[in-house]
Amino acid sequence: DKYVYSFGAGAAEGNKTMKDLLGGKGANLAEMSAIGLPIPPGFTISAEVCQYYNQHEKEWPDGVKEQVEQNIAQLEELMGLKFGDTDDPLLVSVRSGAAVSMPGMMDTVLNLGLNDRSVQGLAQKTGNERFAYDCYRRFIDMFGNVVMSIGHELFEEVLQELKDEQNVKLDTELEVPELKELVARYKTVYRNHTGHEFPQEPKDQLRHAINAVLGSWNTQRAQTYRKINRITGLLGTAANVQVMVFGNMGAESATGVCFTRNPADGTNELYGEFLVNAQGEDVVAGIRTPRNISELKDDMPKSYQELLNVTRQLEEHYHDMQDIEFTIQEGKLYILQTRNGKRTGAAAVKIAVDMVEEQLIAKEKAVLNLVEPTHLDQLLHPQLNQSEYSDGEILGEGLPASPGAAVGKVVFSSEKAEEEHKKGEPVILVRVETSPEDVGGMSAAEGILTSRGGMTSHAAVVARGWGKPCVAGCTDIAIDYEALLFTSDGNTIKEGDWISIDGAKGIVIKGKKEVEEPSFGSSYYTFMGWVDELRDMEVRTNADTPDDAVRALEFGAQGIGLARTEHMFFGEERVTAMRRMILSENKDERAKALEELLPYQKQDFMDIFEAMEGRPVTIRLLDPPLHEFLPDEEEGVRALAGELGISFQNLKQKIRVLKEFNPMLGHRGCRLGITHPEITEMQTHAVLSAAVHLKKDGREVKPEIMVPLVGTSEEFMHQHEVIDRVAAKVFNNEGEAIAYKVGTMIEIPRAAIVADKIAAEADFFSFGTNDLTQMTFGYSRDDAGKFLESYQEKGILKADPFQILDEEGVGALVKMATEKGRTVKKDLKIGICGEHGGDPASVRFCYQLGLNYVSCSPYRVPVARLAAAQARL
Ligand code: ADP
Ligand code: MG
Ligand code: MG
Repeated sequence: DKYVYSFGAGAAEGNKTMKDLLGGKGANLAEMSAIGLPIPPGFTISAEVCQYYNQHEKEWPDGVKEQVEQNIAQLEELMGLKFGDTDDPLLVSVRSGAAVSMPGMMDTVLNLGLNDRSVQGLAQKTGNERFAYDCYRRFIDMFGNVVMSIGHELFEEVLQELKDEQNVKLDTELEVPELKELVARYKTVYRNHTGHEFPQEPKDQLRHAINAVLGSWNTQRAQTYRKINRITGLLGTAANVQVMVFGNMGAESATGVCFTRNPADGTNELYGEFLVNAQGEDVVAGIRTPRNISELKDDMPKSYQELLNVTRQLEEHYHDMQDIEFTIQEGKLYILQTRNGKRTGAAAVKIAVDMVEEQLIAKEKAVLNLVEPTHLDQLLHPQLNQSEYSDGEILGEGLPASPGAAVGKVVFSSEKAEEEHKKGEPVILVRVETSPEDVGGMSAAEGILTSRGGMTSHAAVVARGWGKPCVAGCTDIAIDYEALLFTSDGNTIKEGDWISIDGAKGIVIKGKKEVEEPSFGSSYYTFMGWVDELRDMEVRTNADTPDDAVRALEFGAQGIGLARTEHMFFGEERVTAMRRMILSENKDERAKALEELLPYQKQDFMDIFEAMEGRPVTIRLLDPPLHEFLPDEEEGVRALAGELGISFQNLKQKIRVLKEFNPMLGHRGCRLGITHPEITEMQTHAVLSAAVHLKKDGREVKPEIMVPLVGTSEEFMHQHEVIDRVAAKVFNNEGEAIAYKVGTMIEIPRAAIVADKIAAEADFFSFGTNDLTQMTFGYSRDDAGKFLESYQEKGILKADPFQILDEEGVGALVKMATEKGRTVKKDLKIGICGEHGGDPASVRFCYQLGLNYVSCSPYRVPVARLAAAQARL
């Protein structure tokens, strides 16, 4: 079996489509090699080996050892170098890389192949002894850390000691004798920690390093990252072994990372950082402050031009913005990695539009691949309301690492962030810098603030990927973890104090600031225009107020798929009338109370119809159990008794009678309208008289009345008759009629089963997948939180079914009801109005079933539009 794939010298055994086997890094190294980019040669050990290794007590499958040896021999021949040679040694890096990029999750070993003899060979060959020993000490450190789990800080301490002794500040100021001394001291650290000498045989070094990469797949931090990002179904990580190139060979050498376009706002410019005379992780490790990539142009104009050419070639080849790692060795550019770059929502949209306009890609490709639903979601993030702050309020300025505004209480550890988040407290995680161990806390926080690190630091990269506001490298603040506070310019901010951060500007502000709704640039409208051109499923919104309706229209809603009328009864004057209705002793009293509610309802519907300008509006009849409208604390009950002119005891008794053991399965939905038809009558009256009123004004109105919680066709027929009767009366009184539809929610499993019978009577179906999920699983929506998390951890559920539609179970009911409904009525209009209407995967599912529309909350409308277009493409 083939387990090892070589690349280099203009050829490769793998290619970019082989990510599952070779990992993203390996697949792209192969691809870049094949298209002739300057890639140091090497080989990739497939992820199958990792899977085998982790399942078979750290053994390799048969044949891997030979294939590795053969590839090393091949590299030696290609390079004219020998592994461990005293004159001219071959050095390699060993790099991890899974199919899905997991920033900083797995560890890299550089300069492998150095030992006490080959370090002299390297010195001789390069004529640069300082360089050779610098490589060697880095190797011992990295190997000790990655392979032998020796704390990196143990090496750092020794380095600091030596620097102090020598009275220098930077590592680059250490000369050859000191570096030799450093190597000796590092070896002592190694021996003290492991109990044996630093391994001198390169083949042993290589085997250990490969094993460390394979084993790193299962470290706690890798598992946590995968869990948070819901990364499942991968074999493991591949291991890449690649010939070393050196960015630490002097003033003509450098190493850096860059994006082919600005990942924060999408501007078409190189964006990144580099360090002269440095190696690998130096740029992101925050040891030295990296310089802006634009300065490379002045420092090394030729290499800069080469870099520009390569980035252009990469974009043309990959049809996407790339995030690359490069090294310049004595003026010669090498590319060490490329991948599609993570970007903010605003950048994603701008890049998509620009690339179409630059004729780099087609519209379809831009819509399908360059903007993710979460990007749009992020675009809609709130911003800080104020743009100017007084001197005293600004606590510091850092890098604008990830846009959006976040407001929360300061915490200094990830544990604390997670703890507070569980209690529902918004927090800002404040750290000197973050590391992969912090991802849990970062995920729990509203925003992230670090005092150290650049635009490509861990905090910045992870936050941008998640669309979470982040201010990085805010050197104005001094953090004291012990005392749980940070200070800045005379201010002391303690744990629990409120701060606000603006991730787009990079500022940190004292106190709890107000946030405001976002505004979109012109790219957004261009892009969403393409989205609408390319989709054919309708997107409606769930809106209960005219304000919601107006906002949803701005977001591109094509109608209202769900207007919940109960929300209209909570206004101050209305709730009293509502309560009187609920508590009335007889039909007459109830009718009187309902009459009081009628004008309010009518006005509500007029406002909503007006706002929707002729688009369809689906109004759901009263749905929740009535006791929800009644006070449950003594104080409230006393006040209400006073208002109603009855005794406290009497009212308490009435409320007790209304209480239910299981209200979600109790007297609610159409059951209310059947026992008290006057409620349905009043609501129908309000809807249709509002509609007629507007029609008389010359406006178009498309009312659709929706009966909730139907389980039998008889229930629906009963309500349908009431509605039709009232309609006839209203039209007769008004001397004007209007077309209206009467349909039902499908949210009780029984309704899905008898959907053909119901369809015979209904104009439309709308899947209420919240209740349908609740009743299909038998999980109470309000209580399931207690066990759903544990279910997901144990793998009993893949996802929270209230967030992502359970296609296998609940989805099967949706499918069945759709098919049964359409066998009776070929053109039955069908939509979905549960929370799932705004979830991209669920939108795709609905599209595949042939639903006519999805309906979701206003903020999800753009996401649903994009998801609908992507489902079709
Ligand atoms: P990560 O996945 O954490 O980015 P990489 O495997 O990309 O880890 O390695 C980190 C860095 O190490 C690279 O960006 C590059 O600077 C350096 N590096 C890796 N392999 C080589 C090599 N063969 N020659 C020079 N530098 C290398
Ligand atoms: Mg990398
Ligand atoms: Mg419902």
